[in-house]
Amino acid sequence: MNKNTFEPGLSLLRQPVAPLVSMVQFLYLTGPFATVAEVIGEMPEPIETELAVYEHPVALLREYLEFLQPLESLKSEQEIGDDVVDEQGEPVDRMTAVSALVMQQVLTAELEKINSRLCGVCNCTLCCTGPSAGMSQEFFEIPLAPREIDLFAVDRCDHADSRAHRARDEEELYCDGRPFYRRRSPGLFHWQNGWSLILPRGAQCPNLEPGSDRCRVYAQRPEVCRRPQIFPYMLERLDEPRAGSPVYRLRQTLLAVVDCPYVRELQDDIARYAAAAELHLAWKENKS
Ligand code: SF4
Ligand code: SF4
Repeated sequence: MNKNTFEPGLSLLRQPVAPLVSMVQFLYLTGPFATVAEVIGEMPEPIETELAVYEHPVALLREYLEFLQPLESLKSEQEIGDDVVDEQGEPVDRMTAVSALVMQQVLTAELEKINSRLCGVCNCTLCCTGPSAGMSQEFFEIPLAPREIDLFAVDRCDHADSRAHRARDEEELYCDGRPFYRRRSPGLFHWQNGWSLILPRGAQCPNLEPGSDRCRVYAQRPEVCRRPQIFPYMLERLDEPRAGSPVYRLRQTLLAVVDCPYVRELQDDIARYAAAAELHLAWKENKS
């Protein structure tokens, strides 16, 4: 694909908001500002960094104001409510924790926008179809929340045996005398760890409109279908909450799924984006 095709998303990828967020944090903490909004209101325009020229940094930053406001907890005694630990499980200092929580939110919002623009021009349905002939995986799984299963008008498998298995168990679930994925059409399965839509080889999601390849439930599509192929992994949520609040492990990473055509095409730009946010970059393959 010609890189110009990606222009709507690429122009955003090349103007990462992360360096501006770091500037706001620095100015807020070192200046006489009561709120983050005040700092943003006094930013000069344009701003030039090593990576990009931001013609309208104020407008850009205001889009993320709600995610930046927790920085204000750094000037008060206000609890942040979430614990962040390092690789060894030791709590990190408050500044590191708040900065990471803020950056995770900002980058998630920014990358959702970038990814949806990049995906939109690819005419690709990889995320909505089962494995194709050359792939080794037997099925793809789309995990779903219970409230999302009614979006899919397909057979359901929900019994004591399905609820005692997980889709990836070595000892596979059998349905009608064959492994659960040896079926022609997609199905909803209730596993030990929740619901998922199973797309067997050659199948496609029932919501993918034949011919147009559009998602019929786009506005209500499940959470997992909104997940971008380039996403921040600043923090990993751990399973053991302490005193009811979540615990995160600091990861400082940007993940990019190389199955996706725009990720393969834009590797240099993605690497620059990761560098701007001071994140390690990890390439990941989901489908084979
Ligand atoms: S619900 Fe829509 S976006 Fe999700 S897999 Fe189906 S067609 Fe694709
Ligand atoms: S693999 Fe990438 S381009 Fe293809 S549907 Fe998924 S997000 Fe879109």
